[in-house]
Amino acid sequence: MDISDLLRSGFIVIGEWCLIDGELQLSANASAELERSHAVYVFREGLEILYIGVTLRALSRRMKNYLKPGASQRTSRRLNALITERLHDGAKIEVLAFWPGRTDVGGLPVDVAPGLETALISLIRPGWNMKGAGKRVPLPQVPGSDLRADSTYWVYVNDVIRKCRIHKSTCPYCNSGRGLHGGGDRQSSYWRSFVDRQGATDFAENVGHSDVRTCTHCGG
Ligand SMILES: [Zn+2]
Repeated sequence: MDISDLLRSGFIVIGEWCLIDGELQLSANASAELERSHAVYVFREGLEILYIGVTLRALSRRMKNYLKPGASQRTSRRLNALITERLHDGAKIEVLAFWPGRTDVGGLPVDVAPGLETALISLIRPGWNMKGAGKRVPLPQVPGSDLRADSTYWVYVNDVIRKCRIHKSTCPYCNSGRGLHGGGDRQSSYWRSFVDRQGATDFAENVGHSDVRTCTHCGG
């Protein structure tokens, strides 16, 4: 799986990152395309796929976040710094996008873009994506075990509904990573433990899911 596969599948070059007076800008060559939503997008330098993302909003709005990321937009700030640094080194970084549309499974509607993004990231593992970078830890099998007593914070990640929730380990919905019903990890969701809140927040915000919040029950 490489850039030529993506181009063959329907990805198109929509623009190129550039620096104007030291400020990151997107020089786009297809403005009508940029207003379409539900896109999977790729940053590439030559044959290297640097980053894969998805947006459910107009692509132009998502790209604007990279230009001037707000203080709380950690992923956008991280990418802004990475792109800017690479451009300073003389690189040419293009933005490609693809709008895979919708389909249905068993008569139920499916938005293809988020699933395609997840699949491409796991196939290609781009250097700038941090999804899956967190370390899986073995869960205590015995309720009340203090195997993970050092873990004060936990992040619940659900890859199907694309959300992350930050919990304190004492929260009944967290139950030290076993969840409300004691099940622990499942196929579509998993828990990660962290010794401090910052670590948990950094991880949750870099998984790549749009719905990232602290638990309203325990306040994370
Ligand atoms: Zn909680």
